[in-house]
Amino acid sequence: MDTTAIANALSGMDIFFREKESMAEHTTFKIGGPADFICEPDSVSRLKDLLSFCRKNSVPYFVLGNGSNLLVSDNGIEGIVISLKRFENVTLENAFEIRCDAGVRLSHLCSVALQNELSGLEFAWGIPGSVGGAIYMNAGAYNSEISTVLKECTYIDESGNTVQADVSGLDFGYRKSIFSDSEKVIINAVFRLTHENRDIIQSRMDDLLRRRKEKQPLEYPSAGSTFKRPTGHFAGALIEKSGLKGTSVGGAEVSEKHAGFIINKGSATCRDVLSLISKVKEEVFLKESVVLEPEVKTVGRL
Ligand code: FAD
Repeated sequence: MDTTAIANALSGMDIFFREKESMAEHTTFKIGGPADFICEPDSVSRLKDLLSFCRKNSVPYFVLGNGSNLLVSDNGIEGIVISLKRFENVTLENAFEIRCDAGVRLSHLCSVALQNELSGLEFAWGIPGSVGGAIYMNAGAYNSEISTVLKECTYIDESGNTVQADVSGLDFGYRKSIFSDSEKVIINAVFRLTHENRDIIQSRMDDLLRRRKEKQPLEYPSAGSTFKRPTGHFAGALIEKSGLKGTSVGGAEVSEKHAGFIINKGSATCRDVLSLISKVKEEVFLKESVVLEPEVKTVGRL
């Protein structure tokens, strides 16, 4: 289907969209060429219309959260990027539960939990993702992860049906879930938390954020930890031991502050980051005999 026909169809569905949208503006890495289209549906029914249109017409689509775990190709993304940023409701379901739309930032969810003296999400304070992206990735830190506080999740399945699933049916593992590499689209979730004094929650959040700022190169664009934690090791420690801190390709560099992060020093391209990833993998395998697997997701026309 050509771009004029797609644009006409999107207008007909009354969905907000922009053409040739630079993905560097939508990723924490600040890297990525243009998406043919970016769409921001504002209701489940418009989202379903959009998914059904893409599937019927074989228009490729990609669901974007907050772009904090993505490496987007310099050649951009073919088809439609679906941003769920307009899915932004957060409500208190009952004394211990919060219902939250997929497009809500984790930072906002954490603030709502704090205001209501609800504990369990402190670990997520400082993870720059959306609720949808955090569930997809089973985001975690400091010995906790999203699946430990999630009660249930509502998503649109591959056939366009709305499915409500209990956490036990979501097949969570280390940085993976039933959503990994699937076409399911998460629309909202319920988190089950516990009562705690507001000051205690606040001090835990402050402490974890301080630890992040001390250890992580937050002053540079990145997508967080570049590699998954290999069983029995820490990726950052292996990379440091292999003498790779500060190694660079173009504008991409293995952070001097935390070797587990590849950072964008200002002009990095996707190609730079991919070359550096290959170099790091090769060296770590040669020197430490460990195979590193990227945690960062590469998307787009390669
Ligand atoms: P995106 O990066 O936009 O997308 C990630 C994947 O989720 C994509 O495949 C996308 O298609 C899919 N997705 C997003 N929303 C939906 C949806 N509604 N339905 C279906 N699929 C969807 N991660 C950690 O786990 N722990 C950390 O401590 C951590 N620290 C970080 C620190 C920094 C400075 C940065 C930049 C990143 C860090 N990350 C961390 C990585 C990242 O924030 C997490 O992986 C986060 O969960 C990604 O969420 P997102 O909304 O940005 O998703």
